[in-house]
Amino acid sequence: MQIINPATEEMSEIPETPLAAIPQQLDRAKEAQLLWRTLSVAERAAVLLPLAGSIAASKAEFARLIAEDMGKPIASGLGELRRVTTGIEYLCQKAPEWLAHEITDAGREAGYIEYAPLGVIGVITPWNGPVWLSVIGLIPSLLAGNAAIYKPSENSLRTGITLAQYFQCLRGLPEGLVQLVVGGKSHGRAVVESGVAMVALVGSTAAGKDIMRTCAADLKRVSLELGGLDSAIVLKDVDIQSAAQKIVRIHCTNSGQVCCSIKRVYVECQVYSQFVQEAVAEAQKVRVGNPLDDVDMGPLAGAFQLQKVETAVADAVQKGAQVLTGGRRLERKGFFYPPTIVTAITNDMTLMNSEPFGPVLPIMPVDDWTEAVRLTNSTRYGLTSSIWTKDANLARTIASHLDVGVVGFNAHGVPPLGAPWGGAKESGIGRTRSKEGLREFCNVKFVRIPAS
Ligand code: NAD
Repeated sequence: MQIINPATEEMSEIPETPLAAIPQQLDRAKEAQLLWRTLSVAERAAVLLPLAGSIAASKAEFARLIAEDMGKPIASGLGELRRVTTGIEYLCQKAPEWLAHEITDAGREAGYIEYAPLGVIGVITPWNGPVWLSVIGLIPSLLAGNAAIYKPSENSLRTGITLAQYFQCLRGLPEGLVQLVVGGKSHGRAVVESGVAMVALVGSTAAGKDIMRTCAADLKRVSLELGGLDSAIVLKDVDIQSAAQKIVRIHCTNSGQVCCSIKRVYVECQVYSQFVQEAVAEAQKVRVGNPLDDVDMGPLAGAFQLQKVETAVADAVQKGAQVLTGGRRLERKGFFYPPTIVTAITNDMTLMNSEPFGPVLPIMPVDDWTEAVRLTNSTRYGLTSSIWTKDANLARTIASHLDVGVVGFNAHGVPPLGAPWGGAKESGIGRTRSKEGLREFCNVKFVRIPAS
C-alpha cells in the first residue's frame, strides 16, 4: 500500500495482507481464543495491563508516528497517548467487577448472568485517533475473552502496525489472539465477511451502513461508532468572548477531524455579531504548521480530506455563504487548510447536512434555543451537542430535547471514561468506554440454577 506523509507529501510503501490469508488468520484467532476464554477476567486484565506501561514508555516514538501518518501535532499525539494509558488502566481495573457473574433471583428459580465471550471480533478503526480508537475496540474485546482481527486505517498504517506488535508482544497473551490485517476498504469488507462473531467499527456512517448490511445476512453483532455533525448552542447570557474562544479551539482540535468536533454553531441573535467577531479573532490566532513543531494544527490527513473540505466550502460559497477567515488551502507542500469561519449559512448547504470533517465552522443566528434544538435535530446525525449558558436548569431542559448520545454543558465532546459513549440516529449503534460498552462484547448468558 502507498502511504503519504500529509505534511511533506513524501511517499512510502507497506505490503498489504493477502486477502486469501484472512480465513487462516481467523482460524488461528479462533484457536487462540479457546485458551484465552479459560482465563478469569482478572487474569486477562493482568495480561493486558502492561500494555499501558509499554505505550507510555514509547510515547515519543508513537507521537511521531501519528504525526507522520496523519498530521496530528506532537503535543496532541501525546495527549491521545495519555488517554490511551489511562483508558487501558481504567478498563483493566473495572472489567473484573463489570463482567462478574450476577446472581439473580427470578421468582421461583434462582440463576446467574454470565458475561461470556462471543468468539473473534473484527475491530476496524479510523485514522483520526489511531491509537486510542483502536485500543478502545481491542481492549474490551480481549477483556471479555474474545480474540480480535484488527484492521487499522489505511491512512494511519504505521501506527496501527506498531500497536498490533505491542499487543502481540504481551507476555501471557496466547499466540495468534490478535491478528493484524493491513489493507484498505476491501480488506475491511473481507474481515466483515469472514466468520467473525461481531464487528466493532469506528468510522464513517457510510462504512457503518455497508457493514451492517453485510452483517444482517447472518445476524452478526455490530458496534458502530460513526460520524457526527455536532452543534454548539450558545445562549445570550453566557460570557461570549470566552465561549467563542473555547468553541473555536475545540473545533480546531485535530484540524477539525474529530467525530464529535463542533461542526455547527447556533447563537442567539442578540449576541450573534459579537460571537462571530470573537470567533474570527480566535481562529486567526491558531498556529498551523508542521506537526513535528510546536503548532496548534497540522495538515489535514490527506488529499482525500482536503478535497472533501474544499468541496464543502465551494458548495457553501456558491449558495451564498461568506467566508470571514481562511477558506483556501495554504500555499505550501502538504495538505494544510487554515481555520475557516463561514456565515450567511442556509440549511441546504452540504456542510450543514453531511460531516465536512475539517476546520470549517459555520455560525448561524437563531431566535431562541427552541430553534437551535429543532435545527440540531434536523440532520440524520446525533453524536453529541453542547449548550453554552450560565443557566444549569435551562441546560437540563434543552438537553432533554436533543436527539444525541452525549450533551455537554459549557464543554463539548467526549465525557470522562466510564460514561457511556456513542451516538443516536446515523451516528451509531451501541455504546463503548463504559460498563455498557464492555458488555456489548459479551454474550449475556443466563444460567439457571436448579433448586436444591
Ligand atoms: P472510514 O469509514 O472511511 O474508514 C474507517 C475504517 O473502516 C477504515 O479502516 C476503513 O478501511 C474501513 N472501511 C471503510 N469502508 C468499509 C466497508 N465498507 N467495510 C469494511 N470496512 C470499511 O472512516 P475514516 O475516514 O477512517 O474516519 C473518519 C470517520 O470516522 C468520520 O466519519 C468520523 O466522524 C468517524 N469517527 C467516529 C468516532 C466515534 O466515536 N463515533 C470516532 C472517530 C471517528
